[in-house]
Amino acid sequence: MITDEEIRKVIAPLLLSGAKMLDKHCPKCGSPLFEKDGRVFCPVCEYREKKRERELKGVEEVLMEKFKELANSMPTEVEKLRVHLEVMEKLLTIIERYKKLEGGK
Ligand SMILES: [Zn+2]
Repeated sequence: MITDEEIRKVIAPLLLSGAKMLDKHCPKCGSPLFEKDGRVFCPVCEYREKKRERELKGVEEVLMEKFKELANSMPTEVEKLRVHLEVMEKLLTIIERYKKLEGGK
């Protein structure tokens, strides 16, 4: 399924840019496939992928901010510090996971 927004933002500009609409459809989203500069591609899937990457990047930045904040406010008391470091470690695990999601194209 393609949304109206995707038609407006992705397919319409592509048609105007001179890309050729092919007689084939994307098996994943049903959009017509396009050809430009000898490359056949699905513009909707590419658009979704980029959008997803941007969203992941946004989340990662928030997590990273929090991580820095924690790194700059280490408690001196040992027991508190232990908990603090545990939280930082968990946060780092999540950040790593997000990085992998971004990289896994
Ligand atoms: Zn597609």
